[in-house]
Amino acid sequence: MTETTAAPVPSDHIMAVYSRAPLAFERGEGARLYTTEGEAYLDCMAGIAVNALGHANPKLVGVLKAQAEKLWHTSNIFTIPNQEKLAKALTDATFADEVFFGNSGTEAIECAIKTARKYHWATGQPERVDIIGFDGSFHGRSIAAVNASGNEHYLEGFGPPLPGFVHLPFGDIDAIKAAIGPTTAAVLLEPVQGEGGARAWTDAQLTAIRKLCDETGILLIYDEIQCGLGRTGKLFAYEWATDAAPDIMAVAKALGGGFPVGACLATAEAGRGMTVGSHGSTYGGNPLAMAVGLASVEELVKPELQAHVREIAGYFTQQLEGLKERFPDVVVDIRGRGLLIGVKLATPNREFMQHARDERLLIAGGGDNCVRLLPPLVLTVEEASEAMAKLERACERARAKAQSPAGTNAA
Ligand SMILES: *Cc1c(COP(=O)(O)O)cnc(C)c1O
Repeated sequence: MTETTAAPVPSDHIMAVYSRAPLAFERGEGARLYTTEGEAYLDCMAGIAVNALGHANPKLVGVLKAQAEKLWHTSNIFTIPNQEKLAKALTDATFADEVFFGNSGTEAIECAIKTARKYHWATGQPERVDIIGFDGSFHGRSIAAVNASGNEHYLEGFGPPLPGFVHLPFGDIDAIKAAIGPTTAAVLLEPVQGEGGARAWTDAQLTAIRKLCDETGILLIYDEIQCGLGRTGKLFAYEWATDAAPDIMAVAKALGGGFPVGACLATAEAGRGMTVGSHGSTYGGNPLAMAVGLASVEELVKPELQAHVREIAGYFTQQLEGLKERFPDVVVDIRGRGLLIGVKLATPNREFMQHARDERLLIAGGGDNCVRLLPPLVLTVEEASEAMAKLERACERARAKAQSPAGTNAA
């Protein structure tokens, strides 16, 4: 077996919060990444759904270089013309009327939660503060974001749980109905959960939740940080469902294609509490970020790209079902939507990621013992077929390991 050789020395000076693979990449092109030793990997995780247009996309590189030579940063004390243009592009393409720009998904969620609470404050119901979230969700790592997701592993040791967050089982509409009360501000969910293992709410559930929110006067917040911007084969995942648009939506990841950009979108009504001084950011929406964001969105809104995503996703789904049939001892479920694909395994997912890396394929982990395929949206049919061949061999490795007498030989 060819095992991964590149082993950069881990730093003693990085806070020890990551479990890193001993791999470092030096350059990329499209869906291909090259290590410092020149070895090529097929990238089917795209920096966790970030590099939607592939690595070193010539258009994005061009606008970033051009902007870098003109102006980097002025602060939000001044007008930033491309911020206005990107906000218009995002609102033209969605339910939203206005946008706040930050630098990450977490900041987009933070703004979404503040916007929802401030809305109720501004409309005379300041007691409405509770945010209803769901098992298996992930909304980022700030104190508010970990409290919103309620994942105990991410909360442990960080002080008492914050008041104002309620957690319900995934997919349970009756539980939502029962939980909405006089102190509820909003329901917050990912139409397709990412970290949680690519679990999708059904279209009918989203429509039902939208209706419940309307009937009770609470706001609906979507976290489309991972599933948005073309990943599911529509510009936003909520578009698959009828009459299910949110009031507020957090977007990031693909928005900058690797340049840090996050955005909180809202209707004018939901955003009415966010007045001068309510919120802000030093870097948010700076000229560098906006140049790249604008160029990304120009590409991501193209219907041809979304049709391409649906085609590649259809291919993967069909092929993965075949893999599940041939390897029932390894692959137990295929889930997700579009190119946010979860493969639930019978063998440990961390080991499987290593098997895939041994085949020079990069995939992401996920909750519920899943691995996720999150390739660049521009992945070609040939690359998808190459990824399947590598996954097939990774399954053979997983099977061999499970059947070996020791069963636990280190990869
Ligand atoms: C990645 C992610 C976040 C957090 O984004 P950061 O940029 O890491 O702060 C929040 N929600 C979802 C669904 C995500 O996938």
